Amino acid sequence: MPLSEIRARIDAAAEAAGRAPDSVDLIAVSKKQPPERVEAILAQGHRVFGENRVQEAASKWPAWREAHPDVTLHIIGPLQTNKVRQAMELAAPSGGAIHTVDREKLARTIARIADETGACPDLFIQVNTGEEEQKAGVPPSEADGMVALCRELSLPVVGLMCIPPVDETPSLHFSLLAKIAHRNGLSGLSMGMSGDFEEAIAFGATHVRVGSAIFGERPSEAEAG
Ligand SMILES: *Cc1c(COP(=O)(O)O)cnc(C)c1O
Repeated sequence: MPLSEIRARIDAAAEAAGRAPDSVDLIAVSKKQPPERVEAILAQGHRVFGENRVQEAASKWPAWREAHPDVTLHIIGPLQTNKVRQAMELAAPSGGAIHTVDREKLARTIARIADETGACPDLFIQVNTGEEEQKAGVPPSEADGMVALCRELSLPVVGLMCIPPVDETPSLHFSLLAKIAHRNGLSGLSMGMSGDFEEAIAFGATHVRVGSAIFGERPSEAEAG
C-alpha cells in the first residue's frame, strides 16, 4: 500500500478518536526488507524506521544515514545485554527509541552506558499483555515496578510497548497497555502493526509500527510460508 495511503489512514483514525494526526508517529518497520524497497520509502521523504535486530540495523543503516542524516531509528526487537551499546548508538540520534526494555538487567546496563556516554535514546518498557511464555516483556503485574526502577535509574522512559497475541482481540491488549501507562503517568504508547494500527490509534497509540503494509511481505517469511 502506498505510504501516503497509510499516513492518510493514520490521520483519519486519529481524527476519529478526537486526536491530532501529528500525535501519531509512523515507524516504518524495514526489517528483512530488500534495500530497494527501503530506498523507495526514503526517496518519498519518510525518515522514521524500525528494526528488530541490532546486527541487521547496524549493517544497513550507517550508509543510508550518510545520505539522510535526519533518519530516526527505533529498535523494536528483543535486546541482549551485549547488544545494548550498539542499540543505543543506533537509536539515540534524531529522537529514536528502544521499545523493548523488559528486565532489570537490561535497564541497569542501559543506565550504566548512558552514564558513561552521556547519551540515551527514549525508552519504552515492553509489557507482555497476553502473558505469553514465548514472548518478551514484563507481565502486566510487574509493569509498575519496572517503570519505578527505570525512574530510579534516571532513565528516559517515555512509554509502554506491546505486541498482542495473534489469536486474540488486540483492543483488549491496547486498552490494558493504555491503562497501565496512564496510571504511571506515561504518555507514549507503542502499539499497532499492519493489521491493527487504526484500532491501536483509537486506544491512544502514539507510535505505530507498520512493516508489511508499507513495504510488502518480507521475502524471507514469504519463502518460509
Ligand atoms: C515486524 C514487527 C512489526 C511490523 O509488523 P507488520 O505486521 O509487518 O506490520 C511491528 N512490531 C514489531 C515488534 C515487529 O517485530
